[in-house]
Amino acid sequence: MAVTRERAELIARATPCPTCREYTWRRVKVREAGPGEAAVGAAWSAELVCGVCAAHVHLALDDDGDLLYVG
Ligand SMILES: [Zn+2]
Repeated sequence: MAVTRERAELIARATPCPTCREYTWRRVKVREAGPGEAAVGAAWSAELVCGVCAAHVHLALDDDGDLLYVG
């Protein structure tokens, strides 16, 4: 796997909240992509909770560390 978990977490933390555009994450949990996510090319999946607006955000990274989606 090209991108380590640590790198994936750094990328996740460097992604702004899609709701309020802040970078203050209260919680970041990175795990290996599940089968459904791997089917669309994801290597890592991250669950984040915004520290500003409390939005729950899910993002996926491919094995180059590029964001596949943020939602
Ligand atoms: Zn937010």
